[in-house]
Amino acid sequence: MVLICHYLFNARISCLRVSNASTENLTRSATLVVEDRPQAISFLLQARSKRYGVEDAKQLHSYIVKSGPSPNIYYLNSLIRVYAANGDLDDARKLFDGVPHRDVVSWTTLVDGYAKLGKMDVAKELFDSMRERNVVSWNVMISGYGKQGNIQAAREMFNKMPERDIASWNSLISCFTRNGLPEEAFKMFQQVLTEALGMPNKVSFLSVLPAIAELGCVRRGRCVHSFILRTGIEVDGLLSSALVDMYCKCDWLDQAFRLLKTNPSQDNVASWNPLLAGLVRHKRFEEALDVFRTMQLEYVEPDSVTIITLIAAVGRLGALGLGKWLHSYAIRKKIRVNATLASALVDMYSKCGCVELALQVFAIAEERPIELWNAMITGLAIHGRGKDAIKLFSQMRAANSAFNEVTIASILNACSHSGLVDEGLSFFAAMEDIYKMTPKIQHYGCIVDLLSRAGQLEEAKTFICSKMLLKPDAVIWKSLLGACKTHGNVEIGEFAARHLIELCPDDSSAYVLLSSIYDSAGQLSDAVAIRKMMSDGGVSKEPGFSLIESGGEVHVFLVGDRSHPRLEEVNTMLCEISKKFESVGYAPERQLVLFDIDDDEKEFAISHHSEKLAVAFGLCDTAKGTRLHIVKNLRMCSDCHVFMKLVCKIYDREITVRDMRRFHHFKSGRCSCMDYW
Ligand code: ZN
Ligand code: ZN
Repeated sequence: MVLICHYLFNARISCLRVSNASTENLTRSATLVVEDRPQAISFLLQARSKRYGVEDAKQLHSYIVKSGPSPNIYYLNSLIRVYAANGDLDDARKLFDGVPHRDVVSWTTLVDGYAKLGKMDVAKELFDSMRERNVVSWNVMISGYGKQGNIQAAREMFNKMPERDIASWNSLISCFTRNGLPEEAFKMFQQVLTEALGMPNKVSFLSVLPAIAELGCVRRGRCVHSFILRTGIEVDGLLSSALVDMYCKCDWLDQAFRLLKTNPSQDNVASWNPLLAGLVRHKRFEEALDVFRTMQLEYVEPDSVTIITLIAAVGRLGALGLGKWLHSYAIRKKIRVNATLASALVDMYSKCGCVELALQVFAIAEERPIELWNAMITGLAIHGRGKDAIKLFSQMRAANSAFNEVTIASILNACSHSGLVDEGLSFFAAMEDIYKMTPKIQHYGCIVDLLSRAGQLEEAKTFICSKMLLKPDAVIWKSLLGACKTHGNVEIGEFAARHLIELCPDDSSAYVLLSSIYDSAGQLSDAVAIRKMMSDGGVSKEPGFSLIESGGEVHVFLVGDRSHPRLEEVNTMLCEISKKFESVGYAPERQLVLFDIDDDEKEFAISHHSEKLAVAFGLCDTAKGTRLHIVKNLRMCSDCHVFMKLVCKIYDREITVRDMRRFHHFKSGRCSCMDYW
């Protein structure tokens, strides 16, 4: 009879657990059975100690004391556990002190409570005064020291303990993992296997997988994974998350994705986030968005980490529609716009060409850490709003916010994009003299860019040769060379190109720019020589591509693209555009195309630059008046710039092009850069 009761009771508990019953139900059940089976309460409390609040425990406590049979050590221990699990160590201690026949479980439970709260001194004192200890008591101490970061003490405990079980090993593995000793953690895990110290269990794998992730060693990760499969341990949500995280950190993203898709228990957003982060880290932005679509199909609810990661991807792709959707999704789901999310939003809106929306997010941000200010200043800079960026910087200082080298780089960038030469130079001077910061290569780069763009090529050259304390990098030479092309300076152009080729012989831009400088100056034989040098050296030009978002999808166009399914439509549109252009007397610039091809072909190549294809597609695919937003991987050529100005006027559309350096807002036949880029 007793056995049956016990069985029924257990069934009821597990049933309650499954149905996630409220505390009230549990208390009632406990009350019902308390007189017959005092252990029932203990069982109940143990089963759900983490979900129990202190109030529930107190209620049950007083009930037990008042109406129950004489207090039984099992449920007193359980109550101590509930108090400790809730961080209420005072009540736990009071109860503990009042228990007449404390056993090893009472002691260990209290020690564990202190250890979990990081009060290792008290835990150690209690531990030392224990008359009797079991393996659990030792394990509790090891994991307590591990969490506190005291590796030495954890290791000592481990060495001193008279007998160990798998949990002891797990505690030490986890201690090494969480304290930055992944190699030690892995060695420990191997020892468990080789010395046949008992089979590793789920906790062992959960402890070692993050260590492997940290080491980035996919070979070991695969071994452990196949070992898990062989042991027959169920790969539940937790274990699967750890495996996914490991594969992501070891940069085997496809495997991580496979695992997520095939594991039915993967409704947990925490497992998907590392995959998204990995894809974004590897600039696989479109795939990140695909994964997000899969998540939605699998009913995985995104959290703030998901949103922040995706917003970064959206910014890079310039997919404004999706960015806005994510923003409103976050608001709908009451995800708090914290500083990190706000910075991500500001960055995304700026990169998608909507600096006004970025400013709105900035204006209502609850707190403004340095990252948020920097993101906003950078946003204004790339939109050529140099004066506003400077104004914001003074506001930043007025708000007593700290600023750093990134802030100064953004400000210098802003000056450079807006032609504010004097302001830029004085910020640069202040950097060392007043802010006491040592300029880094990007700060020097900004100054070279600033002078070069403004046509002060001699000054830029002098600055590089005599004022820089660091060795100029490719970016610096490229700025100077690019400006020589714009301002038609052959002599300094040759100088810059020579240095650039020396630094990066495989980079095509030096050859391309120099040959077109020669072309413009009429030095045709020099131009031919450079092209020959380029083809002899096997240097090929980086293919340009442009992205445009339409209908919730991102479309990619490559120069001279023949792969897009709607290419015919695009070509028809390009023909229509060029007819309209002819009537206003526009002829494409021919000298921008490299290699010896005849003029007709040159015209074809240049009229099929990727951003032109993207605009033509945008005109076909969107309703009249819709703003077109294009992202280009290289700098826009001057022909495409003229093309955009004409298209925006003739078709009455606003067009934004983000090239590798800045934004161009085309409206009513003009560009926001004032042809200064
Ligand atoms: Zn172009
Ligand atoms: Zn422009």
